[in-house]
Amino acid sequence: MVIKSSTIFFFTALILISFFILLILIDKKGGNYDFTKNLEKRISSAHFVYFMERDDKVDTVFQEEYFEWLLNQLKIEYNEKIVYYKLKTRKQIQEITGIEANACVYQQDSGSYAIYTILPIDNHECVHLVLGKNTGSPPQLFNEGAAVAYQAYLVDNKFIPSWNGDDFHILARDYYFNNNLPTIDSLLTNDSFWRIDPEITYPVTGSFIRYLIDTFGIDQFKEFVYISDFFDSDSTIRTNFHSVYNNKIDSAWNEWIGFIEQYSM
Ligand SMILES: [Zn+2]
Repeated sequence: MVIKSSTIFFFTALILISFFILLILIDKKGGNYDFTKNLEKRISSAHFVYFMERDDKVDTVFQEEYFEWLLNQLKIEYNEKIVYYKLKTRKQIQEITGIEANACVYQQDSGSYAIYTILPIDNHECVHLVLGKNTGSPPQLFNEGAAVAYQAYLVDNKFIPSWNGDDFHILARDYYFNNNLPTIDSLLTNDSFWRIDPEITYPVTGSFIRYLIDTFGIDQFKEFVYISDFFDSDSTIRTNFHSVYNNKIDSAWNEWIGFIEQYSM
């Protein structure tokens, strides 16, 4: 029997296409990381239940001390234990949650939220989880701003908020003097917030929210968060802000710029 070269080409192409479809299906299935089976080491402390691989570890002492400090700062009582999944790679987090990040708060099958992180301490996600549960999640400017404003580390036995060890007021001041400070308009809605480099948005909004809280108090900030929704429009954010702070957000932003202009450590 004579097999035409076009027939060989057709079948080769068919086999290759099938192979690629199979690869895509495996990928869509979410990889092979079975975290319920692999995270077999379980540690329980006063505020957390940790799950991790047998040879992995978390700093449970830091987490407890930090969490007590955080609840005090936020004036929140939180009696539920936080589930903390300590993973090893961003890929594992993505396979489980679909989110590309070092850490996130994500809803478990049970319906409650848990921390998924590759970090042995995670202060930032604790803020998201506690604030979200207590008062809801505001738009990103306030959501990430608050998480950074309370992202604290132990310095001389005191918790000092900072952006991964750097003073976020200094970072914001430098962005301002280098003409890299985003406008308040560009940070208001999530869509535009997400278009800007997080190395800028996180410390800048952390500095702004820390300034708001230090100047007007945590109660007012929580009141604002309480009436806000994650997907609020530009005009709703402006109206809500004015109703709580009795000031335009643009004016508050300019007052904050005045603060960082003068800021030194
Ligand atoms: Zn965050």
